[in-house]
Amino acid sequence: MPRVSRVSVLQVGRVRVRPDNVAGTWRPMLWWTAFSRAWTGWLPVNVVVVEHDRGVLLVDTGQSRASMEPGYHPGGLLGWAYRRQAEFVVDADDDLAARLAGLGLTPADVDTVVLTHLHQDHAGNVGLLPHARVLVSADELSLLDESRPAAHGVLPEHVAPPSVTFTPVRPTPLSTPVGPFTTGTDLYDDGTLVLLPTPGHSRGSQSLLVRRPDADPLLVVGDLTYDPSLLATERVPGTGATGQQRASTRAVNALVGAEPGLRVIAAHDPAAADRASGGHT
Ligand SMILES: [Zn+2]
Repeated sequence: MPRVSRVSVLQVGRVRVRPDNVAGTWRPMLWWTAFSRAWTGWLPVNVVVVEHDRGVLLVDTGQSRASMEPGYHPGGLLGWAYRRQAEFVVDADDDLAARLAGLGLTPADVDTVVLTHLHQDHAGNVGLLPHARVLVSADELSLLDESRPAAHGVLPEHVAPPSVTFTPVRPTPLSTPVGPFTTGTDLYDDGTLVLLPTPGHSRGSQSLLVRRPDADPLLVVGDLTYDPSLLATERVPGTGATGQQRASTRAVNALVGAEPGLRVIAAHDPAAADRASGGHT
């Protein structure tokens, strides 16, 4: 049985987005993409490191330093939409390898990567982790087969380089349901690390439940929300499939009720590191 010894939240890049992205409004996405002049403050791009006695697991890989180079993002109309929706900065000390070094780890120490989804601020460093098994939902991987993955926010040249082999994840019935979730993937068959389907932000978005021996459990949700305090009222982000996001949000809220002390860790929540270590609930 893997025993989780340490969970760390690393900032691997920063992002700012439109307020309509954080919490959807009546304004259609195309409208605020074109006309919004407001930005949020700078938010972290969080990577969660789970160290346990079977190895080191990352949830997401953060923003690549290469994204600071011109030409990383698409050109044309799509590139305009990308630039209007989000701005990213990756400082030298925000580099994934530099952040892992702060924990006494190197990229080669990472055995398993769980990608919540394939957007480049989550999967952009996957090519730096040569030894890792990379778990992505099969539904999310199907985006790579679309005629224009970039129209779905997926840049294959950065998030699916030829050096990476993905392990597709297909939710199957769980022997012990996790709150309202009857399907998922129990990574070690003991309920310690369980992948759960939470689609909506993207077609195959998934979350990871982490049960720790001496601390509250965590649910790492990627971009299901930017701010866990919005979950209770079902305020979902302004991008993605709204109905699916609401359904996934309701399921997560039911899990919060079923799993005592559960803390939700979101990819762009400035309080995530504090929540994981015990400050917030
Ligand atoms: Zn995303």
